Order: sequence, then structure tokens, then C-alpha cells
Amino acid sequence: MKWSKIHLFTQKEAPSDAEIPSHKLMVRGGFIKKLAPGLYTYGFMGLRAIRKFENIIRNELDKINCIEILMPMVHPKELWMETNRWNEMGAGLLKFKNRNDHEFCLGATHEEAIVDYVRHDLKSYRDFPKNIYQIQTKYRDEIRPRFGLMRGREFSMKDAYSFDMDQAGALKAYDQMYEAYTRIFNRLGLQFRIVKADAGNIGGSQTHEFQLLAEAGEDALLVSDKTAFAANIEVCPAIDAIPYQSKEKEFKATEKFATPGQKTIADLEKFTSVPANELVKTLFYSANEGFDAKDKSLKAFAVLLRGSDEVNPIKVKNFLKLTNAPRMLNDDEVREVSGAAPGSCGPVGLKIPVYADNGITNLKNYIVGANADGFHLKNVNHERDYKAQFADLRMAREGDKCPDSDGTLKAYRGIEVGHVFYLGQKYAQKMNGVFLDKNGRSQFYEMGCYGIGVTRTVQASIEQSHDQDGVIWPKAIAPYHVHICLLDPKDEALAQYVDKMDQALTEKHLDVFIDDRDERPGFKFKDADLLGFPVRVVVGKKGFDADQIEVVNRKTKEVHKVTRDQVNQTVQKVLESL
Ligand code: ATP
Ligand code: MG
Repeated sequence: MKWSKIHLFTQKEAPSDAEIPSHKLMVRGGFIKKLAPGLYTYGFMGLRAIRKFENIIRNELDKINCIEILMPMVHPKELWMETNRWNEMGAGLLKFKNRNDHEFCLGATHEEAIVDYVRHDLKSYRDFPKNIYQIQTKYRDEIRPRFGLMRGREFSMKDAYSFDMDQAGALKAYDQMYEAYTRIFNRLGLQFRIVKADAGNIGGSQTHEFQLLAEAGEDALLVSDKTAFAANIEVCPAIDAIPYQSKEKEFKATEKFATPGQKTIADLEKFTSVPANELVKTLFYSANEGFDAKDKSLKAFAVLLRGSDEVNPIKVKNFLKLTNAPRMLNDDEVREVSGAAPGSCGPVGLKIPVYADNGITNLKNYIVGANADGFHLKNVNHERDYKAQFADLRMAREGDKCPDSDGTLKAYRGIEVGHVFYLGQKYAQKMNGVFLDKNGRSQFYEMGCYGIGVTRTVQASIEQSHDQDGVIWPKAIAPYHVHICLLDPKDEALAQYVDKMDQALTEKHLDVFIDDRDERPGFKFKDADLLGFPVRVVVGKKGFDADQIEVVNRKTKEVHKVTRDQVNQTVQKVLESL
């Protein structure tokens, strides 16, 4: 393909809303262009990378007999009401009415649609197993779309769904998909980790995320320095490396004391000279998820933590079996349940459920708010002064103990590019997905669902593979393998030579791009670096006449000066070395 034949305009400057390198480079290279927040046009080169990645996915899913279909993007409300996710998904689901006042949403995920697709056909144990996928545009009305394709509102996802008769079959399908994903991301040649994760409101019990490692990643990961343990911080167990032992021997009598103006843990630490890890803070939440418009009650509860710890809302959600992370109470609501402002609250005397993080277990004679403005209580002890249910509710952090060994956890940042879930019978039960087993009994089938963020992965690979001059495409998804800078495009002999090279390399299944624009060499080299295809060949009159052509490795910048008939061979060699 020749540059003069396509629509491709590079930019010197990145747009001001582009904060991370991959976003800047994708826009500057013309790979994508913003239409509105979270909505992007994939340009000619961007789309080629996307298509190549899709084909890697297709190839690997084919190997595990996962078959491709394509479902509608617009779904009727009734379908999503069957699982109640019409309500549970909240504002993330974009809803609208058609001309007949019929309600619809845009597909944010397709569990409901796929169950509807198969439930009339999967009737007998002989119909299993089945594994089905699609590659399709999803729409999620993300609150804050950002980082280009990383968090779009419209984005492309590969979503697969497995159907099995029993749990053993479903877990086998899960393992097969896990292996296929491993092969897919290995083929990109990028650094990734497979981590334990939260199931979100898809539901299900076993789940792993595939995370590409990158500074700009939105996800915090904790990885063991001793074992294969790796988890998203959202679900990582928090275990102190050195278990806390209180120096206090006996329970002392509780005492109320004045703490005027002391609102935060930092204030209190200074005021009392007690370190934050020996103070206890009290947070208030509501478990009312608002799915039932008539239910206006405030289902308040309190969470206790050491002053030095942070609450993990996902752990709280999972512990209380909520659909979404709980909402923090506002100051008025806190006063309603505790009688004081947030800085002066504590667990003693509360009439609502109290949940305490495990970090408090070994504290003795500690300080909490007194539920009276400007006062705290000292020498408070759980069991004696208040009752709480204990659980792991705090954020794990770097340096915590590895849950599997005596190792410690190390922090990384990652970009979630894939996610595998074992769903069990959740959707089958809600949507009447039944079949007759060998004994003629009606059973619910077992499901798994498996996503890959196609467009996110393409950008994430740039986030992991670039330098100050531009993109360094992984060979497997590079829009083109070879970038020929044709410096004197009007010269007949050069043009002919380049066309021949194009033909010969194309026969070897390589994709060749020719910059035949009427531009200065320096300008062309800059664009070649920006576009980032693996090998650059420089064909100018001077080198051609001297029978010395430059073949450049984009990643290492290594230059090979070879004769005209050695060029194709050298190009292939450089590509093989990548
Ligand atoms: P996130 O936690 O990043 O919001 P998610 O866990 O909600 O993602 P899944 O439902 O697991 O996403 O979707 C499967 C995959 O789709 C994700 O692993 C991710 O790669 C991709 N994805 C999800 N949301 C977006 C988005 N807004 N833009 C681009 N890709 C996305
Ligand atoms: Mg996910």
C-alpha cells in the first residue's frame, strides 16, 4: 500500500486531553480520532492493528472449538428485566425508547442475549458442551471515559460464553479458555500477569483477569515474591507481615474525653500521641441499592478500621453480598444513625450492624468516636463495649504477607485486557436455561463468560511498547511489517525497484507500506518512527546508485547497510529476530 493512496495525516502535537503515551501516540499517528468523549474513529492503520488482533483471537478460539456468531447491539428491556440487570447495571447501561415507546438498551455485555439465543435449542444432555463467541462493539456509559481506547464508551470486545451440563464441564471450559487467553497474549509478546479478580455484577465465583503491566494502568495488582500468587487489589487478602500485638495487658474502664475540633485520624494522632494504627475509625454506608423505587428505607451499617488502613469497598460489597459497592452516608444521614458528625462517631451504642476489619482483632483499650460532637471514648474494647462481625474489609498493600507463603506482596500497575468468569447456574436459573439430563430430569446448565477488550488491548500494547519517537508495534499486530521510505518517488528506476520489493515481500506474507509522498527525508523518517512498523527500508537515489540500501530495526534502531539484492533477505532476518 502507498501512503498517497490512503487517508493518513500524522500530527506533531498530541491533543491536550491525551495524558498517557499510548493515547498521545495513537492520536498523533492517526490511528484513532476522537468524535466525542469516549467515541473514536479507528483510522486505516488503527483498524489494521485491531483486525490483526481479532484474527489472533479467532485463530486461538478456533483451536478450542469456540465458534463465532454476531448478536444485536440493541436489546429490548424485557430481556434485561429477566435478570434484573436492567436496574442493577445502573446508569452504565444506555437506555432509550424507539418510535413506539418501547424501551431498549445498548449491549454493554451479552449474557442475557446469548442465553436467549441458545435456550430454545439446548434441550438435551447430548447438546453439550457449547462454546460461542462474538467480536462486537459494546457501549457502556462510562462516567469518565479517558485515555483514548483504554476506557471508551464505545469499544470493541470479544465476548465468549460456554454452556455445560455440570460444574466439572464448566470448569474444564474455563481452563481451556484460560489457556487460550494465555496463548493469545503470549502471541503479542507483551508482559502480562494473570490475577485473581472480582466478579463485578456479572456474578460468579471463580474469576481471573489478564493484566498487561504498565505504569499508566488503572488497576493495582499485588504479586507474591515467592509463589505464583497474584491478585487485583480489589480482592487481595490483607494480612499484616508482622502480626500486631497490643502492649496493653488488661481491659481498662472506658472514659469519655473532649477532642474539640479533632476530626480526622491525622488530627487525633497528633492530639492523643497514639499512632494511627492503634486508633479505630468508623465509616458509615448504606446497603440500600435503590433497585426498588418504593423502598426508601436507609439500610445503614458501620465499618470499623484501624486509622492507618483504608476500606476496600469491593470486599464490603462481597462480604455483604451486595450487587454494587455500598454508598457512603452523607453527614446528615451519619448524624441520624449516630447522633454526631462523622469525625466524632464510634461503634459504642450504635443500633445498626457493625462490621470490623480483622486488623482490629488484636487491639486493646483503643480510642473511638463517642457519638457526641467533639468527644471520643478511650479504653474501648470489642465484645465488651460493642458487638461487631469481623472480616477482611481493608485494602491490602505492598509489603503485606503473601497469603500462600511466607513471602511478601509487591505492587504493580496493570491494564485489564481480558477477564474469565465461571458463572455457574446464575443466568440459567434466572432465564430458565434448562435441559434434560441422562435420567430424563430437568437441570439448569452451567455457564462461563470470557471477555477480551480488543481495542483496549491494541492501545495497551503501545503503552507497553513505545519510545520517545513513537510506537514500537509488536510484530503480531503491526499494521504493516515493512515501512519503505521512498525518498525520490518521481524516479522511475527507484519506483520500479520498490514495487518489485513490495511484490516479493508480499509473496512471503509480509505487509508492505510505501511512503511515496513528496516530502523531505527527515520528515519521512520522523513519521516512520511515529508509526512504528517493525522494519524500515530507506530507498533514495544516492543509496540506490551506490548499491547500498539501509534496513533499520525500529525497536533497536540498528541499521543494516546492504546491497539492493540483499534487502529482502535482511528484512526477513530482522523480522525473524523480533
Ligand atoms: P473495567 O474494570 O476496566 O471497567 P470491566 O471489568 O468492567 O472493566 P469486563 O466486563 O470484564 O470489564 O469486560 C471485559 C473486557 O472489556 C475488560 O477486560 C476490558 O479489557 C474491556 N473493557 C471493559 N470496559 C472497557 C472500556 N470502557 N473501554 C475499553 N475496554 C473496556
Ligand atoms: Mg473485568
